[in-house]
Amino acid sequence: MLIHCPACGPRSHHEFTYGGDATIVRPAPDDTDIARWQAFVYDRENPRGDHQELWHHVFGCRHWLKVTRNVTTHDISAVELLGPHAKDANAGEAGR
Ligand SMILES: [Zn+2]
Repeated sequence: MLIHCPACGPRSHHEFTYGGDATIVRPAPDDTDIARWQAFVYDRENPRGDHQELWHHVFGCRHWLKVTRNVTTHDISAVELLGPHAKDANAGEAGR
């Protein structure tokens, strides 16, 4: 599987580590609702089809990416750079 890193270009997925579900929202640090924290830590969907995931380009630019990947076919339909330089880098990746 190739992941098109916006900073490095197409790279083997072996250069990346999986960072989990990109749709999970962390509760606020002062949130004391144990059910929300339990859901944040343990509850995950197991969807078929497109799924948004976090990937870390560990053996490359070390940026975090949000990847939209079909979990059945492994086709990647979108890759977005995360972090402070994301806006500039992602502007050049439109339509990929
Ligand atoms: Zn990269």
